[in-house]
Amino acid sequence: MIEIDKEKCAACCGCVDHCPVAAISVIDDEVVVDSDICMECLICTKVCPLGLPHWVD
Ligand code: SF4
Ligand code: SF4
Repeated sequence: MIEIDKEKCAACCGCVDHCPVAAISVIDDEVVVDSDICMECLICTKVCPLGLPHWVD
């Protein structure tokens, strides 16, 4: 599953905009990943300017 350090996230929505299945949302300035929707494409791990999204087993 994708994990994102919410403390470091700038809520820029870059990962939100690039996720092909809309699995990521920013709600009240907090980024949330819905692992039930995520198809594990890892695009979000490449587009974040802070390199925050990462895959964990
Ligand atoms: S791995 Fe792909 S599908 Fe999953 S949250 Fe990231 S961009 Fe979206
Ligand atoms: S791209 Fe990075 S900084 Fe921007 S909302 Fe996503 S995790 Fe946060």
